[in-house]
Amino acid sequence: MRARDRILVTGGCGYVGSHFARAAHDAGSKVIVLDDFSAGTQPKLPTDVEIVRGDIADRTLVPRLLRDQRITAIAHFAGKIQVGESVQKPRLYFDGNLVKSLALLDSVLDSEVRTFLFSSTAAVYGMPDEVPIPETARTQPINPYGASKLALEHALDAYGVAHGLRWAALRYFNAAGAHSDGSLREGHEPETHLLPLVIDAALGRRPPLTVFGTDYPTADGTCIRDYVHVEDLASAHLAALDALDAGKPVAATNLGSASGFSVREVLDTAARVLGKPVPHTFGARRPGDPAVLLASNARAKEVLGWRPVRSDLATIIEDAARARM
Ligand code: UDP
Repeated sequence: MRARDRILVTGGCGYVGSHFARAAHDAGSKVIVLDDFSAGTQPKLPTDVEIVRGDIADRTLVPRLLRDQRITAIAHFAGKIQVGESVQKPRLYFDGNLVKSLALLDSVLDSEVRTFLFSSTAAVYGMPDEVPIPETARTQPINPYGASKLALEHALDAYGVAHGLRWAALRYFNAAGAHSDGSLREGHEPETHLLPLVIDAALGRRPPLTVFGTDYPTADGTCIRDYVHVEDLASAHLAALDALDAGKPVAATNLGSASGFSVREVLDTAARVLGKPVPHTFGARRPGDPAVLLASNARAKEVLGWRPVRSDLATIIEDAARARM
């Protein structure tokens, strides 16, 4: 059996999880989604993807699924993702992202499954000392969201040593875009991410967006981010499963395009791609935003043999817009 044969995808109804579920299905894996539906919408997944409603911390349901579905790997996407909310309500984040994930890992370690992918984040780096950021950079999260993700990475590392868990923590930079056939999309509520807000503002579905800060130490004064297409993220997870099968220690690995765009560049590219201006105003900085976040993706290239193929900004915006039409 290969790790990718029968995958339990937690949070498979969410943004990145649904794109991974679709990619794994299309690549021939049997996919079972475990999701508590807390994030709202149900994605349009192929009908032979089984969707089970439940809690990742359920110590009866999860062991039963692992056994009855003969699961060969876990891809763990379920979690809470809003940085601002994590500052206001840290208990939700340490409980949802750490305590529940540890219970999931208990179920895994009590089973025969030993391959585990974890959806981690560039937020583990906090305010980076150097860009592009290599995985060896200091991890010093500046919010409970990043802290809760980093704490689980530490547990995975320890469980790898003690229990032979084969694991990858894939640290996403700015996940963006949507499935190229338009069937899946980014749909958070409330929506706080730049690209959906930009597209909806251009389409007149939301009010003009506010550019958060124009006095950063960047060429045009706005923040620079590394946008990576969600389909490229999905393909990296499949590559990670194969790398773990081959005995490679994937561990913490950045997933980014290694190219950065400022908020103004995003607005300009969106206006060009959509053929419409993007209504916007300028406002104050958003607390906690580093000026520049940019991945080194050398490790992903070397260990996973991964190459982002849809992560140029225009393609990301085209795909995201198609899925929102
Ligand atoms: N941003 C913005 N206005 C918005 C939302 C985001 O100017 O309404 C900026 C934000 O300050 C950051 C970039 O866009 O520099 C990407 O933000 P997003 O929330 O999408 O992702 P993050 O970088 O926080 O993970």
